[in-house]
Amino acid sequence: MSETDQLISRILEKLEKVEDKELVLLVKKLIDERNYLSEIANIDTLTGLNNRRILERIRECSGVVMCDIDDFKKVNDTYGHDIGDTVIKRVTEIIKENTRSKDYVCRFGGDEFFIGFVECPENIIDERIEKIRREVSNDRLLTKLKDKVTISFGFVINYNLEDLDSLIKKADKALYESKKNGRNKITKYEQIKIKKKKFD
Ligand code: GH3
Ligand code: MG
Repeated sequence: MSETDQLISRILEKLEKVEDKELVLLVKKLIDERNYLSEIANIDTLTGLNNRRILERIRECSGVVMCDIDDFKKVNDTYGHDIGDTVIKRVTEIIKENTRSKDYVCRFGGDEFFIGFVECPENIIDERIEKIRREVSNDRLLTKLKDKVTISFGFVINYNLEDLDSLIKKADKALYESKKNGRNKITKYEQIKIKKKKFD
């Protein structure tokens, strides 16, 4: 729960003891208004996805994935910003088609997305990511562009019930490895550690 949500819940508790009914109504109306504004502020207007502020509300994920469109600057430079926007929207659809409503998907930044799989076995997470990767690189709309659109992934399985910040950092490191190794790749955080151990 965010700090403001905690504050609101305390106010609502205290309101129960307030005699002045008009005051109670006014405060509740104000809280409704705040909730509405917060709801629309959390939505990314281009994709309709939640923006990264949704991360504050995430409790527990089985696995965290960070993915980023490859060489996206080149897409904008070659075809223009509007086509760039269309590419972001199509990638969003493919991600949405391959995740369930209980999973968290958010636009993390410009061409970067966060997926938090909820109550999902590791092999299913593996499958879903590979399916998204494959579908983006073979998509009918995206393949109309001269240069292939691909995305890179980094992910981590939440074996030790870590906090979200730490999971995101690990998934980001894995994503960096995918970029370094040629893009259009999937890297699991544990794979990086295994590689490092060989040099110890
Ligand atoms: P890399 O493979 O390393 O990710 O290379 P890249 O070219 O994709 O580099 P980067 O991810 O840093 O580039 C993101 C670009 O996305 C930069 C920015 O101009 C563009 N961008 C960010 N938001 C939007 C948007 O809403 N629409 C469009 N069309 N472009 C955007
Ligand atoms: Mg990129």
